[in-house]
Amino acid sequence: METEILIVEDESAIARFVSLELEHEGYKTKCVADGREGLEEALNKNYDLIILDVMLPSLNGIEVLRRLRQAKATPVIILTARDQVMDKVGGLDLGANDYMTKPFAIEELLARIRANLKKNIPRDGAKNAHTLGKLSVDTDARKAAYDGEAIDLTKKEFDLLVFLLENRNIVISRERALDAVWGFDFYGNTNAVDVYIRYLRAKIDNVFKIDLIETVRGAGYVIRE
Ligand code: CA
Repeated sequence: METEILIVEDESAIARFVSLELEHEGYKTKCVADGREGLEEALNKNYDLIILDVMLPSLNGIEVLRRLRQAKATPVIILTARDQVMDKVGGLDLGANDYMTKPFAIEELLARIRANLKKNIPRDGAKNAHTLGKLSVDTDARKAAYDGEAIDLTKKEFDLLVFLLENRNIVISRERALDAVWGFDFYGNTNAVDVYIRYLRAKIDNVFKIDLIETVRGAGYVIRE
């Protein structure tokens, strides 16, 4: 599977340079030059790692990190200028996994990326197999089962279930589910999410007499641990 790295950096020369180096190493990259846009991108897609500048237009990196951490544990490497020591401290307090002081050697950044991706391996491993109580989902084989009994799901049902499991304990809005499962192009109708939640409940909750998927009124859906 491809490793995707989000680069949130408004200095286009740095962003381009880092992106080229990372692509050369075989990573897939996406560059965003604005804090708010970077946050949206990080929330809507599942990046393996994020490189985050501190001084950014519209929302600074520390604030991006703070908001991201309310929803996700994606590894974040903060880029700071040499004199932004307070940001460094603040960033680590807020859950940055690492930081680099600009200017930096690209070899060092690559080494930190490798180290932080490795730390993340248990979570990557867990990506391929989700279990929750008696429910087990194997994303490689694309199979789901409850207490050993196979659950027959369509592609979209399966993808939606996996997305909810990957984000367990986080309330997922219809818009986020739509973006994640149907893609950004599908700006049809958020009712699609409700319809597919009903399908999942018919095949899982109703059959096995459990309350797997919870509706949070006005907010969306959540699978809780
Ligand atoms: Ca900057």
